[in-house]
Amino acid sequence: MKQERLSVDIAIVGAGPAGLSAARAAARSGATVAIVDDNPRAGGQIWRQGAAATPAPVAAERLAVLRQPNVTHLAATRIVAETQPGTLLLEDDERGLLLDFRTLILCCGARELLLPFPGWTLPGVTGAGGLQALVKYGLDVRGQRTVIAGSGPLLLASAATARQAGARVSHVLEQAGWGDVAGFGAGLWRWPSKLAQAAKLVTAAYRADAHVVEAFGDKRLERVRIRHGDREFDVDCDRLACGFGLVPNTVLPSHLGCRIDNGAVAVDAHQRTSRDGVLAAGECTGVGGSELAMVEGEIAGHAATGQTAPLAALVERRAHWQAFADAVRERFAIREPIRRLARPDTLLCRCEDVRFEAVAQAPGWTAAKLQSRCGMGACQGRVCGAAAQALFGWTPPVPRTPLVPARVGTLMLDGTGSCDGA
Ligand SMILES: Cc1cc2nc3c(=O)[nH]c(=O)nc-3n(C[C@H](O)[C@H](O)[C@H](O)COP(=O)(O)OP(=O)(O)OC[C@H]3O[C@@H](n4cnc5c(N)ncnc54)[C@H](O)[C@@H]3O)c2cc1C
Repeated sequence: MKQERLSVDIAIVGAGPAGLSAARAAARSGATVAIVDDNPRAGGQIWRQGAAATPAPVAAERLAVLRQPNVTHLAATRIVAETQPGTLLLEDDERGLLLDFRTLILCCGARELLLPFPGWTLPGVTGAGGLQALVKYGLDVRGQRTVIAGSGPLLLASAATARQAGARVSHVLEQAGWGDVAGFGAGLWRWPSKLAQAAKLVTAAYRADAHVVEAFGDKRLERVRIRHGDREFDVDCDRLACGFGLVPNTVLPSHLGCRIDNGAVAVDAHQRTSRDGVLAAGECTGVGGSELAMVEGEIAGHAATGQTAPLAALVERRAHWQAFADAVRERFAIREPIRRLARPDTLLCRCEDVRFEAVAQAPGWTAAKLQSRCGMGACQGRVCGAAAQALFGWTPPVPRTPLVPARVGTLMLDGTGSCDGA
């Protein structure tokens, strides 16, 4: 196995809208930049298209930074540990790599929030963003009867992607009430691009005050039970895509000792975290859409390289998009009936088959893990941890190293012995 060492001025984690914008701003100063992403394709959740797709102009403009001579893109590369302050231990399919940096910008994005309900583990049930991601990677949904459910603007985007790929989307179910949805729509004039996007995506299949109560099927999904206002009815379907919005991905930032407030990385006006030399931008600092992620990335890239002149205007632009993020959070807050959908025998942790009743009385995440193996399976609590945080208010524990399964040869590159789980 090849082993290497790379030293740069600025290391960026995440090649989504925030990370690419940070790289573009930082590279302008002449600094050397390395951008690490665990995905083979750059672009993050929104711009990671299939090989055949042509990126939108805003995406193409950001992706162009990867061709600059002072920028190195480490694709399909996982972060294993921080071996000492200023050095990350990385691994891809061929090699282990030590990455030395002066400043680190964390742009780790967000994850979809999946909440348990009876039948949610049946084959054919995915997240709403999850279905989009699968379609982008080539899943064939042509002719499939599809229900999209959960909460937030992502539902309409997911429905549009599924339709374009040939799915028959019969219902798009939003758990928020009509009052909130109408109030959100009425306020969109403040963000004309979002208004135009909503007008393009809205569909006659959309229902507010509606959610899936239960999914049924023998070997895979066959039918869902829907509650719309006071009425319950069943709908036959092949696919259910159900997601309750996004939650910041704080695994790496919390491991690095950055302060987490209300589930997101805490940053100051220039995107600096509580740890010296570490900045953060995009949805790991709070969910707010790609426009907010881009402007935060730009602020971080400029601030990290001492380019202070553009900062005031960027901070003003960030406030504009932060107001959009606040409106989404207020109007699409998860309502009480959704929190009560799981039954005692509904699985909370699908990797380790842990039922809701096995952990619901636990005082916190660590006790739940010890009593039941909840969160100790293949996804390491990425799904059930976020659900438990939303349902019970548990704070997830700080992850230990190695952060991902790694080869022995890679762990041996860490001469400090700091990989405590190895
Ligand atoms: C599943 C999903 C689907 C979405 N679909 C839409 C849509 O259709 N339309 C829309 O407007 N918005 C959509 N969004 C929201 C949109 O993606 C975000 O607003 C935007 O992408 C945020 O940009 P970001 O740079 O903060 O994060 P992201 O785009 O999420 O980029 C973060 C990147 O960091 C990488 N990463 C994270 N941690 C590590 C690590 N430890 N090591 C290496 N790499 C790491 C991730 O793989 C990812 O590529 C979606 C979000 C999700 C989660």
